[in-house]
Amino acid sequence: MRKVELYRFSLPMEAGVILRNQRLKTRDGLLMCLTQDGKQGWGEISPLPEFSHETLEEAEEATLGWLHSWVTGDQAFESALPSVAFGTSCALAELDGRLPETADYRKAPLCNGDPDELFIALGAMAGEKVAKVKVGLYEAVRDGMIVNLLLEAIPDLKLRLDANRSWTKAKADGFAKYVSPEFRSRIEFLEEPCKTRDESREFARETGIAIAWDESVREADFMVKAEPGVAAIVIKPTLVGSIQRCHSLIHQAHNAGLNAVISSSIETSLGLTQLARMAAWLTPETIPGLDTLSLMQAQLVRKWPDSDLPLVDIDSLEVVWRR
Ligand SMILES: [Mg+2]
Repeated sequence: MRKVELYRFSLPMEAGVILRNQRLKTRDGLLMCLTQDGKQGWGEISPLPEFSHETLEEAEEATLGWLHSWVTGDQAFESALPSVAFGTSCALAELDGRLPETADYRKAPLCNGDPDELFIALGAMAGEKVAKVKVGLYEAVRDGMIVNLLLEAIPDLKLRLDANRSWTKAKADGFAKYVSPEFRSRIEFLEEPCKTRDESREFARETGIAIAWDESVREADFMVKAEPGVAAIVIKPTLVGSIQRCHSLIHQAHNAGLNAVISSSIETSLGLTQLARMAAWLTPETIPGLDTLSLMQAQLVRKWPDSDLPLVDIDSLEVVWRR
């Protein structure tokens, strides 16, 4: 006997969260719950505006089709929409016990360049000290100076940087010029410094600063392979697809000697805790990139361990479909 429930949620975001060209006031999406033989499996489907190719409406339609197949006992095929494939695969994996409960709740704190704030966040971190800094929003030279300052001030700090393809090669070089050569090996990687992959490869070769692929991973012609100067690939399941698809990418990365970093697409605490479980299972050696809960004003159904944000429970959500 199978049962399904599909809910719609809309959680308020902190003021001033900007995604590319748009301000994100609420995080909107769907939660599904599958029930079979007294067991439950949950999944979150929340396409990220400006990043996902599918809209929430398209995701909802595809999810309803998938749920209809599943609940009537037909074979439910993996959706072509990544957010739907991710959410449905999580629900199935919870239902049949394939997604282990153990989670990796470590997160590389996001730093806006204020070393004092970073000191506090890192003080609470056991073991490896890794922080993430977004670069490319202001002057490249200023970014270079801040990165240099942080690495100088905290001698056991490693940084992950993310430029989101915002630099020309000249600007990327301008950044690198301000990072002392002796600190460059403590940059774990810089995600997609330049507008093209070739420029990013050239940047890595010339500066000795390792790079990582993020946007590239989601492009049709992308292949995971070992390349000089490439240290990692970033995997955002909501944008990439099912657990199986992510697992295969991680496997390919590890075989090529690359790190794979599971990262969030601003999922709610429910999706985020599932990502933490995927990270503990599939990338146990690597701190995942999950420091996005603080961008929201509430948690959803399941709690992230150290968060004080209020919890929105399932009874307060709108039911889209139930069978
Ligand atoms: Mg990135």
